Amino acid sequence: MDFVVASSTETLTHCPYCALQCGMTLVRSGDRVTVAARAFPTNKGGLCRKGWTAAELLTAPDRLTGPLMRDRKGGTLRPVEWDVALDRVAAEMLSIRDAHGADAVGVFGGGGLTNEKAYLLGKFARVGLGTSTIDYNGRFCMASAAAAGQRAFGIDRGLPFPLADIADAEVILLIGANPAETMPPIMQYFEEQQRRGGQLIVVDPRRTATAATANVHLALSPGSDSALANGLLHIAIQDGLIDRTFIATRTEGFEAVRRTVASYWPDRVERQSGIAERDLRRVAHLLGKAKTAILLTARGAEQQSHGVDNVLAYINLFLALGHAGRKFCGYGCLTGQGNGQGGREHGQKADQLPGYRKLDDPDDRAAVAKVWGVPPESLPRSGRSACELLNDLGPEGGIRALLVLGANLAVSAPDGNRTRERLASLDLLVVADPFPSETTALADVVLPVAQWAEEDGTMTNLEGRVLRRRQAIQPPPGVRTDAEIIADLARRLGRGAYFSDVPAEIFEEFRRATAGGVADYAGISRDRIETPDGMYWPCPSEEHPGTPRLFLERFGTANGRAKFHAIEYRPPAEEPDRQFPYYLTTGRIMSQYQSGTQTRRVAALNEIEPAPFVEIHPDVGSTLGCVDGDLVRLLTRRGSGEFRARFTPTMRLDTLFVPFHWSGVGCANNLTNQALDPVSKIPEFKVCAVRVEAVTKQTRSPVL
Ligand code: SF4
Repeated sequence: MDFVVASSTETLTHCPYCALQCGMTLVRSGDRVTVAARAFPTNKGGLCRKGWTAAELLTAPDRLTGPLMRDRKGGTLRPVEWDVALDRVAAEMLSIRDAHGADAVGVFGGGGLTNEKAYLLGKFARVGLGTSTIDYNGRFCMASAAAAGQRAFGIDRGLPFPLADIADAEVILLIGANPAETMPPIMQYFEEQQRRGGQLIVVDPRRTATAATANVHLALSPGSDSALANGLLHIAIQDGLIDRTFIATRTEGFEAVRRTVASYWPDRVERQSGIAERDLRRVAHLLGKAKTAILLTARGAEQQSHGVDNVLAYINLFLALGHAGRKFCGYGCLTGQGNGQGGREHGQKADQLPGYRKLDDPDDRAAVAKVWGVPPESLPRSGRSACELLNDLGPEGGIRALLVLGANLAVSAPDGNRTRERLASLDLLVVADPFPSETTALADVVLPVAQWAEEDGTMTNLEGRVLRRRQAIQPPPGVRTDAEIIADLARRLGRGAYFSDVPAEIFEEFRRATAGGVADYAGISRDRIETPDGMYWPCPSEEHPGTPRLFLERFGTANGRAKFHAIEYRPPAEEPDRQFPYYLTTGRIMSQYQSGTQTRRVAALNEIEPAPFVEIHPDVGSTLGCVDGDLVRLLTRRGSGEFRARFTPTMRLDTLFVPFHWSGVGCANNLTNQALDPVSKIPEFKVCAVRVEAVTKQTRSPVL
């Protein structure tokens, strides 16, 4: 594929993958584009192997370069002109809306979309289609941390402090995170913290690459986080480690928490969590005696049916110890997806308007409606969360058409067999993607779109730092941007006057729509973030310097106090039993990313980790008569899959681990449980009950 070369040969931009948003330089030489590292605060010149190889995505041989359409269900996807594809999409959306109501047409977005696209998609749903049916795949990712942060502190921003603060904290409590594999450059900060004499405590059922670097590793039983957190707080109270002045002056609700944790005696918590009493005491004292400490959570604790409770229970511990609202202290979430932060602020969520505004708040509705030039009463009410939306696809649930941007639902959603069944039951499935995927394979219409280096936009990284992602090359001929598609569809729906497809214009409108909101970007102009390091929200005016650290004076709640929440431990929705005797947990590995739509196309990454596998304790493997590398079958109540056994002596005897980057018989999400957290509606990807069997020649799946 030939590139149309822009005027300069080097473009300062950011990695297309995770929320660290490492700075990189794309260097063009003839028709070649290569990645060079550059100094940027999150990665300090480092990149992981995904970042180094990211330019390969720009020359992927199977790139989609023209719309595809099938005439009937079960028919073949065939190339068509853009007008034919968009005419059909608009006509069918209108006829479904006329016949079944506006909510029968849905939109599904992604946490990797730029701020401009996330904003535009939310507006398209509410103004273009008039539907309440919109949500996004961030619901699978950071939703529990976001809900807990909102409840405890009144504001959810991944890290309420710069990443660099990590190196200055005496103690770090890192929960359910494996950044040594998922975002390796961040490890520079943890290494620096330890070099300065700090302690790193990792809580994870697995001895991950990150846990192996820790001073203390607590290999808790999957799903027992809130018991562990309550147990640590119990000891802290008993041993006089809590900060009564901080509790009295900056928080509320401690008494109910004190009463709740009173019954989490160390021996009881040892039984619930599998963590020995002496280790509980050691960690409580390390945290309680530290002058500064930072709490970080990731998907391990969050992707559970009690994910919000888990995070709140850990926050309770930190509030009681006075480790919040000060420099080098506080709670942060290691956001996963590239724009996991910005993507959850600007209207892709079912209940949300731009700037972290709420659809059910009359003032928020009026403020955004004014910017959009529509009556507030025309805006739909809150819709269904991601899994609820997916369950309602098809005639029975009432959603008959779905437009998907930036998500590969057929691989990334839990209970994959059911998800694919529901997607196939739609009257109209439209998928916009740069590449063929397991979800485009189910679509009635496929729209080829530009990818990261081919368009302009802004991203908000895990620190709440707003960045420029600059266009380095032109997209291939025949490809359009998501914004062009949305604006064109809006025009065909008779709503074109409300939509621009120019990134700079969208950004200016988006700034106005966020003004006065919690995530206020009003003062962040594209010129101001031309500076290499970007700016932190909230930034309410062009004179405002941005806000690297939140909560130093007051928390974001109405009265400025952080809130305790009394949490009782509740077990996961599914626990091992005689039929399914092990815990299954899932996660990411270093050389792949999310559903693999991008990374499975990069040869250098595939060579490192070409196929799905299961980490299993050798003793468990040998009871099956297996040796390392044998094929085993995993079965849950929802489905089965076949994986190469990777004997891992550090695994718990009761737990298996499968990465979720592959499809087909190695699709981890064919096994996972859709049990939802009642608040965040995140599915329980991290815990379910599983059985494991040896696979023989006779029982082996024919596709392997
Ligand atoms: Fe890209 Fe994340 Fe790797 Fe950085 S850590 S290079 S942002 S995938």
